[in-house]
Amino acid sequence: MVVGVLALQGDFREHLSMVQSLGVEAHPVKLPEEIQGLDGLIIPGGESTTMGKLLVDFGLDAAIIDRFNKGKLAIYGTCAGMIMLARDIEDYGAQPRLGLLDVSVRRNAFGRQKESREEDLTVQGLDGLFHAVFIRAPIVVRVGADVQILASVEQGPVFVQQGKLLASSFHPELGSDTRVHEYFLRVVAHSSIQEV
Ligand code: GLN
Repeated sequence: MVVGVLALQGDFREHLSMVQSLGVEAHPVKLPEEIQGLDGLIIPGGESTTMGKLLVDFGLDAAIIDRFNKGKLAIYGTCAGMIMLARDIEDYGAQPRLGLLDVSVRRNAFGRQKESREEDLTVQGLDGLFHAVFIRAPIVVRVGADVQILASVEQGPVFVQQGKLLASSFHPELGSDTRVHEYFLRVVAHSSIQEV
């Protein structure tokens, strides 16, 4: 199993070390040809306008969509990565994105607390609470029929799954709790098995 972490921009190093600490091969990814051969891809937090523009400029959007549509790639987006995966972005209709996940998101959704906030979340599939760190985070404002909500805060869903797509508003790569990454790796492993 090989996992790539999109390394155009944002906090990709933390994701790389977390996946590697779980004993899984992980590489930074910057070029379309590096998408071939991946079973999983993590799209990190950062600034989604910049990241979307770089995705298109580097030709990565087409490469990612192609491998995903072939059923060969599971993808996890955190924060700006969630925005990249979303079908619709409120008030930013023209922002470049992958649009694979059937949700609408609102950027910088937490009002006065939007810079940074932390909350202990109940997450479906995990035992006990997960300490979630939000940094200028988006929230999900619409979920499609095939989208499962794994965790919510008062304002709405913050962790969702649609088959091989996973997206969180928060940053599980900051800290030492590896359970969300382990969950993603189970999704990746499952999709690899289905491929055989
Ligand atoms: N506020 C950023 C955006 O909308 C996302 C922040 C993050 O990824 N931590 O692009």
